[in-house]
Amino acid sequence: MLGKMMNKPLLISELICHADRYHGATEIISVETSGLTEISSWHEVAIRARKLGSAIDNLGLNFGDRCGTLAWNNRRHLEIYFGVSSQGFVCHTLNPRLHHDQMRYIINDAQDKMLFFDRTFLPALAQLRDQLETVEYYVLMGPPDADAAGQFDGLLFYEQLIDTGKEKSDWPEFDEHHPSSLCYTSGTTGHPKGVLYTHRTTLLHTLGGNQPDGMALSAKDTVLPVVPMFHVNAWGVPYIAASVGAKLVLPGPKLDGQSLVSLIDDHDVSIALGVPTIWMGLLQALESSGSQANSLQRTVVGGSALPPSMIPTFRDKYGVELIHAWGMTETSPLGSLNQLLQKHQKLDADTQASIRLGQGRPPFGVELRIVDSEGHNLPQDGQTQGSLQIRGYWIVDTYMGKNTSALTTDGWFDTGDIATIDTDGYVIIRDRSKDIIKSGGEWISTVDLENIAIGHPAIANAAVIAANHPKWGERPVLIAIKSNTISEPDLLAFFAGKVPKWQIPDKVIFVEDLPLGATGKVLKVKLRAQYGNILLG
Ligand code: AMP
Repeated sequence: MLGKMMNKPLLISELICHADRYHGATEIISVETSGLTEISSWHEVAIRARKLGSAIDNLGLNFGDRCGTLAWNNRRHLEIYFGVSSQGFVCHTLNPRLHHDQMRYIINDAQDKMLFFDRTFLPALAQLRDQLETVEYYVLMGPPDADAAGQFDGLLFYEQLIDTGKEKSDWPEFDEHHPSSLCYTSGTTGHPKGVLYTHRTTLLHTLGGNQPDGMALSAKDTVLPVVPMFHVNAWGVPYIAASVGAKLVLPGPKLDGQSLVSLIDDHDVSIALGVPTIWMGLLQALESSGSQANSLQRTVVGGSALPPSMIPTFRDKYGVELIHAWGMTETSPLGSLNQLLQKHQKLDADTQASIRLGQGRPPFGVELRIVDSEGHNLPQDGQTQGSLQIRGYWIVDTYMGKNTSALTTDGWFDTGDIATIDTDGYVIIRDRSKDIIKSGGEWISTVDLENIAIGHPAIANAAVIAANHPKWGERPVLIAIKSNTISEPDLLAFFAGKVPKWQIPDKVIFVEDLPLGATGKVLKVKLRAQYGNILLG
């Protein structure tokens, strides 16, 4: 034999063991559904996760069985992440903002055997349970509660359940390709599809996503994941935080700007992560409260396009670096993060900000390309737009329960996004392929038009859709929420000089609200159903 290195499977249990061994005393702050703040630690999470894993075993679940969660970001949810997966079961996070029909579909499709849930979701589950075909155990994430027990036959209580488990047993060792967790896509068209991550893909995502040019969390950080643990595993933050022993602040159900400002100031949060709409609320609350968010150094923002003013506002008013990131359920989710290169360091702040407005470049572990409608590679020149495709260590191959691979014949996953990539690998997402407007054979990016509209001081939020047009096929229509008085001609005049004339929307519709999906993104399918024929006369 020439020699041999150890062969240790990449398992999620290793993450929680590491956090316990080297960062056991580091605090986990948890805002509970009751509103109270509780303090746990990596050691306590590790012990309780073990007891939970053993307790589920005692109930007789089989290796690989799915355990669903309907829960906010809190310490018990964190224990479930580690306890369920480390024992060989699959942690299936459910988005509580989904319609009941979709929730029923997803729970039945995943064949969840157990459901863990926060008190908030008791009424919804009491209504749904008759339609859930596979769930044997319902567990309320808290101490025994007579009132809840009275409303729900056979309800188990988390604190009683974990007391039936053993504290000391070691985690089982198994194949790293075993599934660890499950998330469903948002399913704006057709049924949601399950993406089944494995221990190996999760560990590689943890390591690859946290490089210095990635999330760069460390043991020095206090991390506030505002992104929900039911949205692509909070972008991997629970695993990454365990791998480095970062302190976590889990915000519970209240994600309004003022609640977040208080959490940042009370716990000296150094890095916070979430979708742009959350940060719009946070910036307003900072302004009105007069807080300077002194401890905050970085925010990671992703999930939908970034309003252009956000980078300079965070930078100039609060000294906070904004890291723009892109990803999706199918990509675990980190696909690209925006950090500058050495050659960018000497550029002025505004030029740097314009580079950082894009979605950044892939970390080691994933690769991106753009292709035309026939699947031919397109030049990565920062100009040519094409369908964005990805491959790598933590990218989906086959959706849960499907027999055929979701990949192209040459092994790439088509993201459904339209993008440019430049010579340094920086990606700019121009649109979703189903949203982009094809006007007289030319493409118009709805994202560009929305960014301009949102940049107007009298506009609070905006969405642009493709409306059918008798001559051009499709034309842009702007649907906007006002924050101040403004007329349609004045708003349209604001586009002059910012895009070519033929890209300026044909019409503006002012509304009170935009329909939002379960992950906080504007539901353009709904807007198109409502306004798609408005130009047909
Ligand atoms: P989901 O699987 O629900 O997380 O949705 C993934 C989709 O969200 C991507 O395919 C993009 O269209 C969009 N998305 C995610 N991050 C960004 C971003 N930073 N900028 C623009 N779109 C984004």
